[in-house]
Amino acid sequence: MKVAEKLLDLRRREMVETLKLYGITNRRVLDAFLEVPRHLFFDDNALDCAYDDGAYPIGHGQTISQPYTVAFMMALLVERCPSGKVLEIGTGSGYQAAILDTLGYSVFTIERILELKERAEKLFCRLGFSITCRYGDGTLGWMDEAPFDGIVVTAGAPKEPSSLMSQLAENGCMVIPIGDYASQQMTVIQRHGNDFKRELFQQFTFVPLVGREGWDDTVF
Ligand code: SAM
Repeated sequence: MKVAEKLLDLRRREMVETLKLYGITNRRVLDAFLEVPRHLFFDDNALDCAYDDGAYPIGHGQTISQPYTVAFMMALLVERCPSGKVLEIGTGSGYQAAILDTLGYSVFTIERILELKERAEKLFCRLGFSITCRYGDGTLGWMDEAPFDGIVVTAGAPKEPSSLMSQLAENGCMVIPIGDYASQQMTVIQRHGNDFKRELFQQFTFVPLVGREGWDDTVF
């Protein structure tokens, strides 16, 4: 292994130690973070930031989410829905989809910005991830592939998108940040027949979920 790669490997281990300090204990999640090289989802000139515990711009006013945020969402998902088919809304850099794939889910992901979708799709192909990508408004879900055991929304929603709720499998769960522009409460919605059980967690700040069942797309 070259010196630069060894250094990045070391930084990745340090990032996982930070996640543990912040209270992420799920072994499957920590192992996935050790396995996926986050720096490959960054431009070459931003490599220094790849293992910081922060969000980072990826173009088009969007970000790759903070590692802690991704780990928090993944722990909520794996503890309730340990396997099966997962839909991610907001492909962005592709990192979170790669984590989902590494966790063993069958992953479908939707992005509303064509260039980001195409960039992530090429990266998945190059790195050997078998993730199915689609360009479009993820607030409407992916009807042809429903139902999903898990749905992970990686942008901040003003409310629960009813299309996504209807595409959850029995016992399936959706992890979604809901709130206003400034901050959103991480929410888990689990389906039991026609009942939906809700659990509320801490506040985060995401870029907005823009679309028919999200924020108005004439504003963004
Ligand atoms: N999961 C991403 C990652 O690992 O990089 C996080 C990306 S960023 C925090 C959220 C993404 O959601 C952005 O790329 C944004 O374009 C996308 N997005 C926002 N509204 C969307 C919608 N209605 N459908 C699909 N993608 C959407």
